[in-house]
Amino acid sequence: MSSEHSPALAARAAQQHIVIIGGGIGGLVAARECAKVGMRVTLLEASGALGGSIRSVELDGITVDAGAESFATRGGHVKALVDELGLADAVVPPQGGGAWLSGIPDAPDAPLPKGSLLGIPANPFQDDVRRIIGWRGAWRAYLDRLRPPLTIGHERSLGKLVGSRMGARVRDRLVAPVTAGVYSADPDDVDTDVAAPGLNAALTRIGSLTGAVGLLAAERKGTAPGSAVLGLVGGMGRLVEALRADLLAYGVEIRTGARVTHLERERAEWSVEIAPSLEEGADADAAAPLRATGVIVATAEPSARPLIDAHVSGLAEVGDAPEIEIVTLLLDAPELDAAPRGSGVLTVPGSHIAKALTHSTVKWGWLRDAAGGRHVVRVSFGSQGEAAATAALDDDAAAALALSEASALLGVPLRPAQLVAAHRARYVQAQPTSLIGATERRAAVRAAVVAAPGLGIVGAWVAGTGLAQVIPDAVAEADRLRASLLWD
Ligand SMILES: Cc1cc2nc3c(=O)[nH]c(=O)nc-3n(C[C@H](O)[C@H](O)[C@H](O)COP(=O)(O)OP(=O)(O)OC[C@H]3O[C@@H](n4cnc5c(N)ncnc54)[C@H](O)[C@@H]3O)c2cc1C
Repeated sequence: MSSEHSPALAARAAQQHIVIIGGGIGGLVAARECAKVGMRVTLLEASGALGGSIRSVELDGITVDAGAESFATRGGHVKALVDELGLADAVVPPQGGGAWLSGIPDAPDAPLPKGSLLGIPANPFQDDVRRIIGWRGAWRAYLDRLRPPLTIGHERSLGKLVGSRMGARVRDRLVAPVTAGVYSADPDDVDTDVAAPGLNAALTRIGSLTGAVGLLAAERKGTAPGSAVLGLVGGMGRLVEALRADLLAYGVEIRTGARVTHLERERAEWSVEIAPSLEEGADADAAAPLRATGVIVATAEPSARPLIDAHVSGLAEVGDAPEIEIVTLLLDAPELDAAPRGSGVLTVPGSHIAKALTHSTVKWGWLRDAAGGRHVVRVSFGSQGEAAATAALDDDAAAALALSEASALLGVPLRPAQLVAAHRARYVQAQPTSLIGATERRAAVRAAVVAAPGLGIVGAWVAGTGLAQVIPDAVAEADRLRASLLWD
């Protein structure tokens, strides 16, 4: 038996009270890690529901994901958690083939080329590539084969690397739609080494960018696909529900509608202040400050900073987090049965108001079955440095805009009468891990937090966007705080 399970340590664990602030995936996972060893845990969530960016909504009785809809298999961490929670049987891969590209100057919409990496093609003359960048673009991209590889170090900016070696058309028409859709970011701001690990090294080895992409594609074959994603039958909300049930079984107290307003450190303990609930008949005692031996802040950055600022010195600035909106539409539109744009559409930046579209009933078989012949389409708005076009609109106007954008992106006229139901959700996206400088900025925040006794911090703004980043990071951070409280 490990020393961590000794009776003395178990007794010490039981004396700890950990308050988790925020009930997104980061907070839920951190709460579970603390509760597992017998600590008393209270989880406070400001909104009425757990899950944060994982959000299930009902559209005419059909449950759909209005936020995160899948998880990356990279690292195996999310899948391991899903299995532990008894959801292994619900795991499914997406369907419907690749995405399409819309808004190509002087060319019709086309499928995203096969065999590319972040949009960078291995062969610029391949038919599906040339259709998008034209002969001129293809010949310019071919120069990559003739130019000497970079000799002085490597290029950190993905946009600059692609632009200098393969030209503006590859950067703007193939790479920018992918970085906008996946990272809400311009390719110039994307860190090559984070977004495409091994690409710079392969370029130095093989002498051209196209060659490097081909080499990495060949290496990926036969191994598990690096960027593969999986989903859950019934939606990602099931992961939140399973975590909630697990936390309750561990005796965790979960409070929704509990927004934390202030953290105070008093005599080696925390006092956690909660805003009084505005709901009628709310229990006044529920707003009494909580005393805690440890606190884990698990909110998005804009809420986290004011809570930790007074306790953490030298907190590095992290740039603006993009605000995005997702409008989910339920459509009575048999003309979409043919899946005209596969699983979805990415756009050339500047060509459309919407950033991207997912044809969810094509991508997820379980949703197609649940929708009974109708279609679910998600339209996303907003990106780094560009407010969502729907932000200033009321729900009806936002749905109308999403419908007209869906028509344009799917290449199928859709009438307002075909709209059965709509849902609009707003999110603050953490700055993607792949932004240049993001890794260093996050490390600085972490280092500053570690110096504050009894404080932990989890979530996408410190771990990087995506469940595959947030989950293992929350486990590690909860473990660090646990160890510091039990051993120090
Ligand atoms: C539209 C969208 C689609 C996405 N799709 C995917 C995907 O398919 N796959 C993937 O892996 N990732 C996806 N992501 C990213 C992923 O969802 C996030 O990285 C992750 O869910 C973030 O979790 P979190 O716990 O850090 O924060 P959040 O989910 O933001 O949770 C923070 C919680 O804190 C609460 N809170 C805030 N302030 C307070 C306060 N003062 N007191 C108490 N509680 C507070 C909030 O209400 C919220 O519930 C997507 C994100 C978005 C927005």
